[in-house]
Amino acid sequence: MKQTDVIVIGGGPAGLAAALAAQRGGARTLLIEREPRLGGILKQCIHDGFGLVRFSEQLTGPEYAERDINAFKQAGIEALTTTFVTRIKKTATGFILTAVNQTGVLTITAKALVLATGCRERTARQVFIHGTRPAGIFTAGTAQHYINLLGQMPTKKCVILGSGDIGLIMARRLTLEGATVLGVYEAKATPSGLTRNLYQCLHDFDIPLHLSQTVTRVYGEERLTAVEVCAVDEAMQPIAGTSQKIDCDALILSVGLIPENELAISLGVELDPKTKGPICNATLMTSVDGVFSCGNALHVNDLVDYVSESGQLAGTAAADFSHKQRAEIALTTDPNFAYMVPQRLDLNDTGTKTIVYFRSQQVLKNCDLIVMVNEREVLRKHYSHLRPPEMERLEVDFAHLNLTADTILSFKMEVH
Ligand SMILES: Cc1cc2nc3c(=O)[nH]c(=O)nc-3n(C[C@H](O)[C@H](O)[C@H](O)COP(=O)(O)OP(=O)(O)OC[C@H]3O[C@@H](n4cnc5c(N)ncnc54)[C@H](O)[C@@H]3O)c2cc1C
Repeated sequence: MKQTDVIVIGGGPAGLAAALAAQRGGARTLLIEREPRLGGILKQCIHDGFGLVRFSEQLTGPEYAERDINAFKQAGIEALTTTFVTRIKKTATGFILTAVNQTGVLTITAKALVLATGCRERTARQVFIHGTRPAGIFTAGTAQHYINLLGQMPTKKCVILGSGDIGLIMARRLTLEGATVLGVYEAKATPSGLTRNLYQCLHDFDIPLHLSQTVTRVYGEERLTAVEVCAVDEAMQPIAGTSQKIDCDALILSVGLIPENELAISLGVELDPKTKGPICNATLMTSVDGVFSCGNALHVNDLVDYVSESGQLAGTAAADFSHKQRAEIALTTDPNFAYMVPQRLDLNDTGTKTIVYFRSQQVLKNCDLIVMVNEREVLRKHYSHLRPPEMERLEVDFAHLNLTADTILSFKMEVH
């Protein structure tokens, strides 16, 4: 049986940052990745726009990943690739992990774990569309994998459902490769993607964005031949008499990402119904002692820079981990927040800088975020514009606030 201090599961940017931080923190570290190569989703993201915050440079996904992979290799950290973690058992002293690869079944023990397993795309099964089940319905990430990694075109003429970032990026990519993108259809009244992607991927390529419209039916037996689109009301219900049939050979879905947390669930980690990721404290430790979470497994990020930041935080804390009593209080938010991470604060671990990530529930203009300790306002920050697709990051110094187990720590949004 192999023994180590920290096991990081997932070799994307979150896992790489976590492993580097854990090793630098003095822990014997092992990274396990199910794919043959490190880099996670970045391997197929050949567009630029990565690393603006961290490196002040516009890198492609593979370039961004390469920097971390080089640092990882230089640090001499052990990695098991093409290795899939199938089971984790908690023991009195740590964890026993079972993984499978070409050499067989491996058993490894560790004192702490970092879950950096990323997220997966919602599929056609999760957005109820009537009709047959022909070939030609792809998630945007699958279409991206076909074009960027396999060099194969999945469509000549397509419709994109959902205005998430991957769909916007694929609208541009497919157009550049010679396909016709007839339009992006979004059921909500506002787009789901980053503003920069709306301009750089749709506007600049004259690809129409149809808000408050959705795909209600697909046609075709072996291969998709057409889709039916329809306007929807505020409750996202199709409006009678508005449907139209559009001839195309593919439907590309960009209808959301879900953090991948099967291993966390098997360990009894408590999940947040809003983020679908683990509830954690400011060190990114989950509800199970010694289990840390970061990157898209924790909550879906739009910028890789913050994915790496969370990996670093989780890896550092995992290397430091020792069993001690927790004294946690909740960070509560008003309904203007879609979610906040972390959800809890350990009073034994309030450093001078706690990083808080959040998204607004809807588009808000000219508003103040207020941090309240019981009834006392301790921090106010003005935002001229908040949009749900754009994650916000805030640094708060909780250390000097004399928080106790009875403190009610709340975040409010005052809209002017
Ligand atoms: C199409 C697209 C475009 C993007 N564009 C931008 C952009 O322009 N700028 C930007 O900053 N960000 C962008 N992002 C966001 C950024 O790339 C992601 O947020 C980031 O890569 C997520 O990193 P991660 O490490 O959390 O997850 P991932 O990169 O998904 O890595 C998770 C890894 O865990 C492994 N894994 C999962 N389960 C197991 C298991 N049981 N055993 C072993 N291994 C396992 C997976 O194989 C995977 O390699 C984009 C993302 C996508 C998908």
